Formats: sequence, C-alpha cells, structure tokens
Amino acid sequence: MDITYHMPVKVMMEKGIVIKKHHEFKGFGKKAFIITGKSSSKINGSLEDVEAALDKEGIDYYIFDRVEENPSLETIEDASKIGLEQNVDFIIGVGGGSPIDAAKAIAVMIKNPQLNKDNLITPEKLEALDVIAIPTTSGTGTEVTQYSVLTDHKNKTKRNLGQEVFPKLALLDPKYTEKMDLDTTVSTAIDALSHIIEGYLNRHANDITDALAERGIKIWGECKDDLVSGDIKNTSREKLMIASNIGGMIIAQTGTSLPHGMSYPLTYHKGISHGFAIGSLYKEYLKIFKDRKKVNKIYELLGLESHKEFEELMDKLVKVHIHVTQDEIKKYTDEVWENKEKLANHPEDILYEELFFIYTNSLLYI
Ligand code: NAP
Ligand code: ZN
Repeated sequence: MDITYHMPVKVMMEKGIVIKKHHEFKGFGKKAFIITGKSSSKINGSLEDVEAALDKEGIDYYIFDRVEENPSLETIEDASKIGLEQNVDFIIGVGGGSPIDAAKAIAVMIKNPQLNKDNLITPEKLEALDVIAIPTTSGTGTEVTQYSVLTDHKNKTKRNLGQEVFPKLALLDPKYTEKMDLDTTVSTAIDALSHIIEGYLNRHANDITDALAERGIKIWGECKDDLVSGDIKNTSREKLMIASNIGGMIIAQTGTSLPHGMSYPLTYHKGISHGFAIGSLYKEYLKIFKDRKKVNKIYELLGLESHKEFEELMDKLVKVHIHVTQDEIKKYTDEVWENKEKLANHPEDILYEELFFIYTNSLLYI
C-alpha cells in the first residue's frame, strides 16, 4: 500500500499552555496580526492569554476581531488591507474554525497583495505568512489542516480556499471551552466526529488514518453520555479537544466526504450551524454503505449495538428541524452532484438518487 502522511504542525496541549509556553511565539517576527471573532475569545480568556504571551516576548500586535461565523471573502479582504497597513509579520488565529480559517486566508492575501476577494480562490499555488492557531472550539480540527473554508456570497456557497496553509504551531487548551454553551458544544462535537468518520469511510483512508480514526471514535464515544445529558465534565472537554484534533489530522490526508459537501447549502441557505447541518444528514448517510464492515466498527467503537442506537443518539443530539421544498432538495442535490471532489472521496459508487434520498429522508418538507 502506498501511503503519504503529511502533518507539518507542531501541536502542544496543556492547561494554561499559551502563557506557560510563551517562548513558542519567538522567531515568527516583530509584529503579530491576531485574528479572532467578535466576542467569545474575550470571554473565555484566550485573547488575554495571547496578548500576555506576546507582551512577555516583546512582540507587538494588532487585533482584528470582526470575523463572523462562516467567514466571508469580504471579511478576508478587509482584514488583509489592515494587516498590510500594519505591516504585520505573522498571523495568530484565535477562536473557532471561523477565525482560524480566516487567519489562513488572510495569511495568503497579505503575502500576495495583488489579490482581492474576487480572485483569491485560484488554482495557482500561493505562499502565505506563518500562522499560529489557538482553537477555542473542539470541532473543526482546522489547527492541523491545510484548509480554509470561506463563504462566497457571489456564488451563494461555501468554498475551500484551495491553498495548503498548515499552521506552523497549534496550542490547545481545553480550558477555553469550559464555559461553552451546550448547543455550540454539541454542534462542534458532531463536526469533530464527522471528520473522523468521513476520513475513515473514505477512498483515501489508509492504515495510518484508520489507526487515528479508530482511536478518535473511541475517545469521542467516551463523551457521548455527557453530550446527551448536557452535563459536560472537564475530562470530556479535554477528550473532545483531542478527538477534534485527531479528526483534523485525518481529513488533512483524506479530505471530507458527502455529508460535508451536502451540508454547505443547509448552512448557506438555512443558517444551520456547520455541525448540526452535517449531523442532520448522518443517520441516512451511514445507511447507504453497501459494505457494512467499517460502519459496524464505528458503532462498536462508539459503544453502540446497532444503527438504530446510532439513530437514537443522533436524535438526542441534533435538535434542529430543517424545512425545505422539493425544489430546494433538487437544487441542493444538483449542487453536490457537481462537487466531484466530495463524490470522489466516497469509497463506493454513488447514485444521484441516493444523494436525493439522503436529503429527502433527513429534512422536513414544507
Ligand atoms: P465558529 O464559526 O468559529 O464559531 C461558532 C460560535 O461559537 C461563534 O459564535 C463563536 O463566537 C463561538 N465560540 C467560539 N469559541 C467559543 C468558546 N470557547 N466558548 C463559547 N463560544 C465560542 O465555529 P466552529 O464550528 O469552530 O467553526 C466552523 C467553521 O469552520 C465553518 O466555517 C466550517 O466550514 C469551518 N471548518 C473548517 C475546517 C478546516 O479544516 N479548515 C474543518 C471543518 C469546518 P465568536 O464569533 O464571538 O468568536
Ligand atoms: Zn467540518
């Protein structure tokens, strides 16, 4: 078997790590551009820690705190202009997947100032400023992936930037997630599980990614009772952060698969969070596999007896009801059918009708 495993990110995890390991920020440059969301990093202490660590190292910084959920190309352009004016040397993404993905795209745009929001997504290979990632959700694993998922309002969808921007350093502290509300905790946890599963049930899966996946599913499964009860212990917060990181390492190799591709219209048009949009499709997605060996292994590792128990778990966790018309389902299916990359990652032959039925059986008709 031919295997390529590429994961060039230095990952460190410990409570209080940003302050304790402040010397890790040394060597990236004289001025940092901190990219973060509107409020959560101020509340959970991550932004304050980063500022304190940079102060200790005598590194100057400028903060851009206007990244919205599912960051748009417009925001990337606005922030990049500021970064250029401020003459920053490197980027620190602090927050959930949205600010960290934005940080990666901004790192590309600042390094290539001829680009703007309309031509940033290009097949040309581009360089980027160095990025440091400090995740405060346990979901995307973006701190160890090369991807940056952006909202393209012109084409009314979400798209991957298409560059390889692996952060140089990822500092993980589960303390930042301790006060997270239940909906965000559950939605992001489902995202983490979906990365592991979509990398496991993937044409590009190999022995290394499978080893990570089996361990990752087991760890996630140990948190499922807390996720259902809503009483999330700090030990589970820690495990979810590890599972999320493992998911990122896997999809960095394999890419995601059908549920991710199918979820984008639900997020774009219906405003459903990334994790819940994916989770709403999972019961039907796992049904379509003809070869049940790995699917059954997933249930076993999660501590479940059957597909029925998986359905019950998803019903307890995914509490969104997504209403659609027949025309919308047809439009979404057409869109996914054009997403050749996601279709190619699915390990079995897939029919248009099967995608249509995943949507039909998962969503509610208006
Ligand atoms: P997010 O969009 O970054 O944030 C969602 C919400 O959670 C925001 O309101 C945010 O507040 C809040 N939040 C963040 N950290 C928090 C904390 N510790 N406590 C309480 N609230 C907190 O959520 P996400 O699910 O992490 O990221 C989703 C994005 O990542 C999507 O755009 C998705 O497509 C992308 N994604 C990327 C990859 C990849 O490999 N690059 C993989 C999967 C998904 P603030 O806005 O105030 O910060
Ligand atoms: Zn995801």
